[in-house]
Formats: sequence, C-alpha cells, structure tokens
Amino acid sequence: MANTPYPESYYAASANTAPPRPALQDDVETDVCVIGAGYTGLSSALFLLENGFRVTVLEAAKVGFGASGRNGGQIVNSYSRDIDVIERSVGPKQAQLLGLMAFEGGRIIRERVAKYNIQCDLKDGGVFAAITAKQMDHLESQKRLWERFGHTQLELLDQRRIREVVACDQYVGGMLDMSGGHIHPLNLVLGEAAAVESLGGTIYEQSPAVRIERGANPVVHTPQGKVRARFIIVAGNAYIGNLVPELAAKSMPCGTQVIATEPLGDELAKRLLPQDYCVEDCNYLLDYYRLSADKRLIFGGGVVYGARDPANIEAIIRPKMLKTFPQLKDVKIDYAWTGNFLLTLSRLPQVGRLGNNIYYSQGCSGHGVTYTHLAGKVLAEALRGQAERFDAFADLPHYPLPGGQLLRTPFAALGAWYYGLRDKLGF
Ligand SMILES: Cc1cc2nc3c(=O)[nH]c(=O)nc-3n(C[C@H](O)[C@H](O)[C@H](O)COP(=O)(O)OP(=O)(O)OC[C@H]3O[C@@H](n4cnc5c(N)ncnc54)[C@H](O)[C@@H]3O)c2cc1C
Repeated sequence: MANTPYPESYYAASANTAPPRPALQDDVETDVCVIGAGYTGLSSALFLLENGFRVTVLEAAKVGFGASGRNGGQIVNSYSRDIDVIERSVGPKQAQLLGLMAFEGGRIIRERVAKYNIQCDLKDGGVFAAITAKQMDHLESQKRLWERFGHTQLELLDQRRIREVVACDQYVGGMLDMSGGHIHPLNLVLGEAAAVESLGGTIYEQSPAVRIERGANPVVHTPQGKVRARFIIVAGNAYIGNLVPELAAKSMPCGTQVIATEPLGDELAKRLLPQDYCVEDCNYLLDYYRLSADKRLIFGGGVVYGARDPANIEAIIRPKMLKTFPQLKDVKIDYAWTGNFLLTLSRLPQVGRLGNNIYYSQGCSGHGVTYTHLAGKVLAEALRGQAERFDAFADLPHYPLPGGQLLRTPFAALGAWYYGLRDKLGF
C-alpha cells in the first residue's frame, strides 16, 4: 500500500509529535465521512463532534499533507476577494451575511488553540504593505469597509510607521490588523487532529477516497475499506483530483512556493520585524513573510498555474526575498517547498451540496487559513439544518475557467501575467 510522507519542509522538520494513524482496512459506519484532513476537513469534524455527530476522517496521505501543513502561516482576515466586490456581484443582503462572517475564522482559530491547548506558536498582528500610493489608497478604503462590518483592530501605517514594523524600504505605508497574525501551520492542523480524536472522532491516514457511491445511503470507498455514512464532506481542495468531476471544472490547482532561511539570531530578526508581525504586500502576485519561533524568515510568493512542481524553488523565491531584505544576501536557505491551493475564477470559495447528503467547500484561491476554519463551522451548521450562512456561500455564482481542462492553465497564466505587469508598472 502507498505510504506518502510529508514533503520536506521546515514545518515537517519542526512538527510536534503525532501518533501513528492506521489506514482503513474495514467496512465502518458513521454519521459523517470527511474526505481530507486539512483545516476544512478537521474544522468540520471538530464542530460536528462538538454537536454530537459521529465522524470518520479519511486522509489520502497524512494529516496536514496538503496546503494546511505547508502554507505561509499567515492568519489573514476576509476572503481572497473583498466584501465590496461581493457586494457588487451578489447584492447587499447576501454580502451583509458574508461580510459579517469575514472575520470569524481568525476567532475560531484562537478559540481552538486555547480550548485544545494547541502548541502552534500563535502570534498576533499582520501587516498589509503598500508598494504604491494607489495600493495605500486601497488600504484606506479597505479599512473603512472592514470597519463597516465591525472589524476595528486596524491601524493605517504611514511611511514612517511602517518602517517601525518592517525594515524594508520598498513600502509607502500599510495597514496593521491586530486580529491577523501567524502560526506554525502544520502544528495547528496536527493539534486539531488530536482534538478530533479527543472527542471520539477517527482519522485514517494513507486512505484515499477513490470512489463515492452516491444515493440515500452513500458509501465512500478506499483501496482496502468502505465508510457508510449519512453525510459526506468533500474537503480535498487542490489535491482532490477528479473524485467529484462536477467540482473540478470550475476550479484549478495552482502552486505557490515558500523558503525558510537558517535561524537569523535574535538581533537580526528583531531588526527585520521588531514586533514579530507577519507581512504580505498588496500586489496581485504577492509576497508574504514572517519569522518562525526559532527566528528564521519564512518567505513565500509566486504562483505556478496548473500546479507543476518547479525545479528550483530557491532560485525563484530567494531573489524576491533579497529585493525585500537585501541585508539577507549572505543568509543560507535551509528549506524550500511548494504546495497547492485551489483557484476559482471569482477567487471566492466554492461551497455547496450534491444531492441531499454530499457537502463541499473548496477553492478559497489563496487566503484560506481563516476561511477554512469558518467553512467547517458553516458546513456543520448546514448538516444540523441551519443553512442560512451556508446558503450565502452556496449562492455565490461560479463559472468554468476559460479554456476548459486543456487550456485553462495557459489562460490563467496569461491573466496573471497581465496582473503581474500591472503590479510592476504600479497600476
Ligand atoms: C504554499 C502555500 C502558502 C499559503 N499561504 C497561506 C497563508 O499564509 N495564509 C492563508 O490564509 N492561506 C495560505 N495558503 C492557502 C491555505 O493554506 C489553504 O487555503 C488551506 O490550507 C486549504 O485547506 P484545505 O483543508 O481546504 O485543503 P488542504 O490543506 O490542501 O487539505 C486537503 C487534504 O485532503 C487530502 N485529500 C485530497 N484528496 C483526497 C482523497 N481523495 N481522499 C482522502 N484525502 C484526500 C489531501 O491529502 C490533503 O491533506 C497557502 C497555500 C499554499 C499552498
């Protein structure tokens, strides 16, 4: 049987100890079968268990094998498209519901960390850094927009203030969100898996769902077992392949890459990011970075459309890091890795139900650490018969990516090239 390990990364090298989890080899029965042990799957599992459901989670590889165990670790509020764009596309009533939920994911993470005592180096404070005056104008209107939805832990940073939080000359200003922040992403998801098991949930690793038998009593098949369930939650995101063909046409896996330097030492780390906030810039193809608990710089950026694994990640990301922090020119890179997220045309999540009993949430298109935690709650509410918030997501329109399965990668790359050019020219 396949035994897929974690890809090599700083996170895998510094992961908290986790128990061995068996592959499914029997026929089992449960209330909810969750496919995928990332944040979406485990957040759903936790909310369901807390509400008395029996839950079985199937994971193709290991807990947190996907984006949840490899990401930049940045807790970023709202969605990959902001509430004003949603408002223009779906109208004020639905936008109001979605807007009120846009800051809940970060609160859920903090509640989980506190309730289940998850050791994941949680730090408060995230900065959006503006490279152009136009981006700064946008941050000013974003602050007004977010405040309209009750989100008030925000501070605009002028050029002098942003220098006090990040030692980079590129920025004209920024916005600090104290309810943003950062975590060791793999240790968060491992802690959530332990919490699932502490409530009586079962997680099988190395157990890919290979077929779903639909109908009134659905069955999920793995290579050596079966799960009979009342409900199924599909939470495989960019790693799900074609298990549910209806979902694949309207989304596309994309890769993004991350590097981790050698430990910088307290003094240099404090000079770069004195308050230990995480930072992302405001470009369409954005760079994001933060310090780890042992004072490495974790720096990510770039997108590979179609999710091919690039040959030399360090060669792609190190120049971006040096553009931001030329003072790191002699610093060694200890780790470099890639991971996949799922892009939709609108860059808003794809949420819904197939038949009466198969639920899904996927495709948050970049910013997903907070959204996926919210998604778990919203899916669990829907399974309990309270679907108002679920429907607000499910009613978002989604369209197939132009070019179909064959040409969507070059089409999306062309779109990104255009936006990348706009970033470079400062539009
Ligand atoms: C490199 C990178 C950096 C990122 N940085 C940030 C960031 O800093 N901040 C932020 O907000 N977002 C970030 N994101 C996005 C964020 O990580 C994701 O949106 C989020 O983790 C998605 O969680 P998920 O549970 O939906 O999917 P995943 O974490 O990908 O989990 C899906 C799981 O399902 C499993 N699976 C798939 N198919 C099957 C099957 N058939 N049977 C069983 N199991 C299956 C996979 O093995 C995987 O473990 C980043 C993404 C990447 C790739």
